[in-house]
Amino acid sequence: MGLPGAGKGTQADKIIKEFDIPHISTGDIFRAAIKNETPMGLKAKGFIDNGELVPDEVTNGIVNERLAEDDTKDGFMLDGFPRNLVQANALDAMLAESDRQLDAVLNIDVNPEVLVDRLSGRFLCKNCGTAYHRLYNMPKVEGTCDVCGSHDFYQREDDKPETVKNRLSVNIEMNTPLVDFYNDKGILHTINGEQDIEVVYQAVQKVLTNI
Ligand code: ADP
Ligand code: AMP
Repeated sequence: MGLPGAGKGTQADKIIKEFDIPHISTGDIFRAAIKNETPMGLKAKGFIDNGELVPDEVTNGIVNERLAEDDTKDGFMLDGFPRNLVQANALDAMLAESDRQLDAVLNIDVNPEVLVDRLSGRFLCKNCGTAYHRLYNMPKVEGTCDVCGSHDFYQREDDKPETVKNRLSVNIEMNTPLVDFYNDKGILHTINGEQDIEVVYQAVQKVLTNI
């Protein structure tokens, strides 16, 4: 968990390198569907471009399908889902059906004021989606993706200032009840996301190795 720009994708890339589990990002699934112009992508696009959440029934449906795939049997990591209580309850029901449950919820905590800056400086590799930041996280060799070597980068349409404000307020409103929901279950681990990327990852590692 974490507000847009908190560093979920950045930490997720590190987690999957170390722990051999699939990374299930609803945002990535929607962006791939939009790129491929699938019916689901066309439905989701309007919401995403306005910084709104995609309707729960669509989002829950894609997660349910994804969690039924074989590669999730030994574990999985969700990124950007659930984003509200309806989705959190739907997730519990999906997992209960296959006799599974969440082991931990990592909540990357960053002050919203920092996030505007994070999102406006974010750019991504067009080929593999790795996120960089023009101030805090540049590729090691300028103009070349560290992961896949591509030279093509882009800024997400919804990271432009017009959309960022609405995205943040939509997500802030949903965030507190969700934090309380997982805190009550005793599986919430809040991590200070305003530290260097590597320091944040050390805190993530500590939680994951303990479970
Ligand atoms: P999310 O997946 O939560 O939306 P990202 O992982 O894409 O967020 O990170 C948002 C932006 O902030 C990216 O440009 C990324 O390079 C940068 N970033 C991520 N973590 C940190 C951090 N701890 N300090 C500074 N910048 C960060
Ligand atoms: P993200 O890549 O996680 O920042 O997500 C980008 C956009 O995809 C969000 O602003 C939403 O419009 C949509 N989205 C991603 N995950 C969800 C979700 N769990 N519920 C609803 N909409 C979502």
